[in-house]
Amino acid sequence: MEITFLGTSSGVPTRSRNVSSVALRLPQRAEVWLFDCGEGTQHQLLRSDVKISQITRIFVTHMHGDHIYGLMGLLASCGLAGNAQAIEIYGPPDLADYLKACARYSHVKFSNRVRVYGVNPGILYEDEEFTVSCELLKHRIPAFGYRITEKDRPGRFNIERATALGIPPGPVYGQLKRGETVTLPDGRRIRGKELCGETETGRKVVYCTDTVFCESAIDLAQDADVLIHEATFAHQDAQLAFDRLHSTSTMAAQVALGAGVKQLIMTHFSPRYAPGNDIQLDDLLSEARAIFPHTILSRDFMTYEVPRRNINREIIGVV
Ligand code: ZN
Repeated sequence: MEITFLGTSSGVPTRSRNVSSVALRLPQRAEVWLFDCGEGTQHQLLRSDVKISQITRIFVTHMHGDHIYGLMGLLASCGLAGNAQAIEIYGPPDLADYLKACARYSHVKFSNRVRVYGVNPGILYEDEEFTVSCELLKHRIPAFGYRITEKDRPGRFNIERATALGIPPGPVYGQLKRGETVTLPDGRRIRGKELCGETETGRKVVYCTDTVFCESAIDLAQDADVLIHEATFAHQDAQLAFDRLHSTSTMAAQVALGAGVKQLIMTHFSPRYAPGNDIQLDDLLSEARAIFPHTILSRDFMTYEVPRRNINREIIGVV
């Protein structure tokens, strides 16, 4: 799982930062899932090494323009490129009407290859490898945070050991691979778990924007490997954050701390903290790190590989 930031500015693009979009690459299935699609996202994709043709799902947090104005352009280009794959889009209920109107007035036909789903808090997507759920955050209009959970995978089945034990090949191997205990025709009971390596713990990535500090973000981000959280404002500008229902760097850090995440990546920065101004993004980083040390700032085209981890080896104490 690899995260690529395509836009990290809030509201308007700057010379170095485009408006919101994040790509999650799932190399094992050659798929890309996009989170938000601000204006110009397709240009950012073209400048990155994320393949537009691999986009299968787009998750939209809310209907503000800096998160959706790039959708129509991207979808139209996917159609023109003869992308045979259907794209599924998840987001607030108004999203379907918005896209239908855009398609109608700009004379674009998607031939049923674009399916739009309105989301509600809870699980919105599940397959054999992943679950995606969402929660309502606290913004000026309904805004959803998304959590992508990779399912745990059973460890590698030790076929050499199974053969050495004289276990006859057949359906019994499938049972043992799943960790089940089976009784062989000769009466021996074999525990599948003993023939499998350690379970690979699934990773969890959470994307929270736009929102002021809220408990539902902490619930959504529980125990995540990576929390991507907006930090539009510096702590000093907290009043602006409360007025506009955005977060400060310290709010993002408090969510990360409360949820016990492994890594916080801040994004969605106000252009007011550009180099040369009194407060700069490094100040936001220091403020956040004072509360949650494992914090980094995102920048456009930054890629972050989500590391694998294994709960079976968790340190429970140091002596
Ligand atoms: Zn917004």
